[in-house]
Amino acid sequence: MICAVEALRLGLKVLLIEKMERIGKKVLATGNGRCNLANRNFDMTHYHGSCLPAAEVVFEEYPPERIEDFWKGLGILYREEERGRCYPRSLQASSVINVLRRTLSYYEQEGSLKVLTDTVVTGIRLDKKQKLYEITCRTREGEQAKTLQFKSSQAALLTGGKASPRLGSAGEGLEMAGKLKLPVTDLRPGICRLLSPDPMTRRLSGLRFDTRACLLSGKERIAEARGELLFTDDGISGPCALDLSRQAGELLKEGKPAAIAADLAEEYPEGELFALMMERCELLKAVSLEEMLEGFLHKRIIPEVISQTGLDRKAAAGTMDKRKTGALCRVMKSFCVEISALDSFKDAQVTVGGVHQKALGQGLECAAYPGLYLGGELLDLDGDCGGYNLMFAAACGLSIASGAAAHQLDVEGGRG
Ligand SMILES: Cc1cc2nc3c(=O)[nH]c(=O)nc-3n(C[C@H](O)[C@H](O)[C@H](O)COP(=O)(O)OP(=O)(O)OC[C@H]3O[C@@H](n4cnc5c(N)ncnc54)[C@H](O)[C@@H]3O)c2cc1C
Repeated sequence: MICAVEALRLGLKVLLIEKMERIGKKVLATGNGRCNLANRNFDMTHYHGSCLPAAEVVFEEYPPERIEDFWKGLGILYREEERGRCYPRSLQASSVINVLRRTLSYYEQEGSLKVLTDTVVTGIRLDKKQKLYEITCRTREGEQAKTLQFKSSQAALLTGGKASPRLGSAGEGLEMAGKLKLPVTDLRPGICRLLSPDPMTRRLSGLRFDTRACLLSGKERIAEARGELLFTDDGISGPCALDLSRQAGELLKEGKPAAIAADLAEEYPEGELFALMMERCELLKAVSLEEMLEGFLHKRIIPEVISQTGLDRKAAAGTMDKRKTGALCRVMKSFCVEISALDSFKDAQVTVGGVHQKALGQGLECAAYPGLYLGGELLDLDGDCGGYNLMFAAACGLSIASGAAAHQLDVEGGRG
């Protein structure tokens, strides 16, 4: 949509083909309906994948200020929240989509844009003689399936990846890239839930709390995240888990062990926690260990914490010595959940992997196919949770539009 808006502003004629019944469906679901469209802490360390060189070029051309200006120009002002995350000031993803749809409908009425919804692009090929791309689509006319074909000197494949297929992107773009013999890397879900074989997560299902969590591989600390952690029937979710899912996916791919360790007493350094627990055990020596922890930890997690220490939860708190208290504190500072897999693409927010950098020439134009542009999640580039993916999608859209407009001028100049 962004690419179309910019291309139209630059004077190009555009055909926008969308498989869903309306354009922009995914954006409505972003940021829990609030659309986290950018991040003020932008730098390239928040991006991963082979297409980093292309992303650097794109962001040099369209740095965060130019992306913000694009949104401002449409009437969308940023509202910055925690960790630099920017949302539309209205905190409504629908306002982002409405302004884009309204702008596009202006160009539709003016005649420079045609939008085809409920239409799936099924193939794209280059007619080398005519230097035109033939785009084949499938649509319906009443109950009848119908095939459409279009020709254009330039095309942009912005079909997203495979994540959350119910919102549109189901991997067809990657299949088309494969048919064009473009290199596509292995794919896996990103920014997704982490699955655990431990039945404990089912017992804790629904429990959520703010924490600092650490991704461990054996004893090695791999990464850290802060935010809410949520237990589900088959694993963990919430911003903390989503933030750590990329690196957890790396470990699992390499066959290494992975676990998330949550700090259940974040505000207490280890020494202070130890002193506090010794004091509580003395003060409440007549009650059981699990009763001693009540009021300090959530009731549902107490038996799980004690079980990880190997202590007897029914034993009197007064029987706790320094060794046992030390063991209890270590578990509270590092409450472990084993991770065995990532959630499927069905509910993931992004695709890790995609079309490899080797497919690209200058910027986002295909090396082997002049006038064919690729961008967004289709590429082997994924950003961290927090607005980075929509920022990249926006920068790609703007960059492709300006590349296509320049290309058009060259062609017209050449003809002239
Ligand atoms: C639930 C959820 C929440 C998210 N929240 C955030 C967030 O808050 N901030 C953030 O930065 N990122 C977020 N993301 C990630 C972000 O939405 C994507 O990375 C971004 O939208 C990718 O943009 P894109 O244009 O490359 O692809 P998409 O947004 O996936 O758009 C691709 C479009 O192409 C259409 N399409 C696909 N195949 C075909 C075909 N064969 N023919 C015709 N049309 C086709 C699709 O229907 C879709 O409309 C979230 C993702 C999800 C799923």
